Amino acid sequence: MSADDELSLLIIVLDTNPIWWGKRALGEAEQFTLSKCIDAVMVLGNSHLLMNRTNKLAVIASHTQESRFLYPGKRWAAADPFGEGGPSMESNCSGSKDGKYELLTAINDAIAEEIKDLMTKTDMKGQQTETLLAGSLAKALCSNVDINKMSKDLKANQEIKSRILVIKAAEDSALQYMNFMNVIFAAQKQSILIDACVLDSDSGLLQQACDITGGIYLKVPHMPSLLQYLLWVFLPDQEQRSQLVLPPPVHVDYRAACFCHRNLIEIGYVCSVCLSIFCNFSPICSTCETAFKISLPPVMKAKKKKLKVAA
Ligand SMILES: [Zn+2]
Ligand SMILES: [Zn+2]
Repeated sequence: MSADDELSLLIIVLDTNPIWWGKRALGEAEQFTLSKCIDAVMVLGNSHLLMNRTNKLAVIASHTQESRFLYPGKRWAAADPFGEGGPSMESNCSGSKDGKYELLTAINDAIAEEIKDLMTKTDMKGQQTETLLAGSLAKALCSNVDINKMSKDLKANQEIKSRILVIKAAEDSALQYMNFMNVIFAAQKQSILIDACVLDSDSGLLQQACDITGGIYLKVPHMPSLLQYLLWVFLPDQEQRSQLVLPPPVHVDYRAACFCHRNLIEIGYVCSVCLSIFCNFSPICSTCETAFKISLPPVMKAKKKKLKVAA
């Protein structure tokens, strides 16, 4: 199969949590701002598009209040966002000033516009401080469905290969555990790779996502060199990766979050009917309301006494 018969879609999910990035901008130790991170993401996106003319790109911002397509965003032709005919931009980037490929200039401008809009419209009084990562991944999967729907326009033997790269900044949210796992298994079913590039603290959820879907999990050792890691590790696609010496797989934290407190636990109680996980024993499953026929110690004593009397 020639390279032209394959359509490679890279979906970048970028954690834009304003609280985490705000702290990062203030810290003196490692000055690494969101705009620098976005620059790195743009270079990765542009590089991916330059690798092959059939390559496609989507960028999603995972924010605290919403998940938003930075590219292709609202400003792009709504009818066919991933279309072959190229973009129809209304804004002022009709020509290239510096000899750069116009599409790349247009994409970068669109991403910058969307992120500016997203950041200025963020309501910082809101209670929500966690990144909506599970929702963003679901959105990424849906965009994959969108492009699959268009596959009727493709040549008969053309195939779409999709992968999602998550650039994760803020802490994991155990509240999203269920949604997250559902998204991971949906991705696995569609054979979509999930890669994770973690900037700060390790993420158990993303370790599981990468392990299950066959992607690469990497915690960036030095944040200011993010771009180098993106280009070395995450630009090559699945086939090229087999020929590279990439970072070894990490130890996966396979702990699950209990349904009662959302704590990560190693040993817990599992409902035999609905497989809900609990850290404490409860006689009735709070998810499916099954009453367990387990005799507790005091009940057993009472029964024994009764039995003796009956005998
Ligand atoms: Zn619990
Ligand atoms: Zn149950």
